Amino acid sequence: DQTDCIPEIEQRHFVVYINPFSGRGKAMQIYKDHVKHVFCEAEIKSTVVKTEYAGHACKLSKEIELGKYDGIVIVSGDGLVHEVINGLMDRVDWEQAIKTPLGIVPGGSGNALAASIVYASTGHHPLPDVLPSSLFEICRGKICKVDILAMETSDASHVKKAKITYGILGTVIGLISDIDIESERLRSLGSQTRMLLYALMRIATMRRYNLTVSFLPAMADKEFGLSLETSAEQNDNAIHNAIKENYTAAGDATETLVNDLLPPLDEPVPSTWSVSQGEFLQVTGVNLSHIAVDTILHPTKKRSDGLLFLTQITANVNRRSLLKLWDSMEDGTGLTERDNSSDVVVTPCRAFRIVPHSKHSEIVTLDGEKMPYGPFQCQVHPQLGRVFGT
Ligand code: ADP
Ligand code: MG
Repeated sequence: DQTDCIPEIEQRHFVVYINPFSGRGKAMQIYKDHVKHVFCEAEIKSTVVKTEYAGHACKLSKEIELGKYDGIVIVSGDGLVHEVINGLMDRVDWEQAIKTPLGIVPGGSGNALAASIVYASTGHHPLPDVLPSSLFEICRGKICKVDILAMETSDASHVKKAKITYGILGTVIGLISDIDIESERLRSLGSQTRMLLYALMRIATMRRYNLTVSFLPAMADKEFGLSLETSAEQNDNAIHNAIKENYTAAGDATETLVNDLLPPLDEPVPSTWSVSQGEFLQVTGVNLSHIAVDTILHPTKKRSDGLLFLTQITANVNRRSLLKLWDSMEDGTGLTERDNSSDVVVTPCRAFRIVPHSKHSEIVTLDGEKMPYGPFQCQVHPQLGRVFGT
């Protein structure tokens, strides 16, 4: 009886990028011990590529013949996802290419995207084992939208020569980016130990960052027609319209994504933006709930809500509040607007600009990757990308 048969599913074919350098160098082992077997069971065909250098996956995803694959699977941390997104956005057919579904297998030290995907589908904190859950999402094959952020950077001396880099997790200047990059040389200890060591050191001697932070709060953004008070469906429609209007013909054949919310980096921000200036411990602009597998920063942050959560922590924050914040990121309560105080302020926004005033260079990261030091600004591009998830 034919009606009882499961319909024949066409075999899926993924290209799999593995970063042998990520995390403690175990990504290839994770592939051999787990991914390979699960894909075999799920009758998924894979073409495996081990990256040879930083930037290799960016180049590969810029050149790959996407029509041959049903998705790109990444066995690494957020840095390789970042590479792939930038490769896809650098293509002539970027608009189609960025819709290639990405499957994330946590193989790095910072697996924020993998964690956020598992959190969105389970709602559990602490998270269930992220590796099997991530593989399950890929095999199930449900495709979800994800916001992408565009970051415009400049060298302090060449503000006119701005460069666009795309991200999925977000940007940090201050405590965490310092810890992240300065502890690189302790990579072999594993992420938790190295982060903890540096965090303790850093909290003992807190550095101050003199910044001007400007932002377009979500509430003030009339152009998008979006509001936190309208329904998800209304927001979805507004997002779709915004996406349609948000690219432009740049020449005959190619079109580029326009950062319509960002004024030129060397010009003042519009009057609809808010501005704060002072000494900060850290400023983050984040697109996901998690910043690491065991660290939930914003439990209410959805990956496709068209928002960036800007969190400003002033340099006056006392250690007790900081430790409380640290605890909340581990116990799952995290940070929302409801926790706002004079020293820690979360603002859902569409775009923001940070101008650092220090003469010596500070560490700025996007998706855990080091970015040039100087003024920079970001805007969210709602639901531009795709990931396997629920
Ligand atoms: P982690 O979570 O451990 O930081 P990432 O996925 O972020 O892992 O990758 C870390 C860095 O490794 C990224 O900057 C990425 O560009 C780089 N990278 C990718 N492939 C290689 C390679 N074959 N050798 C060295 N570095 C690489
Ligand atoms: Mg990384």
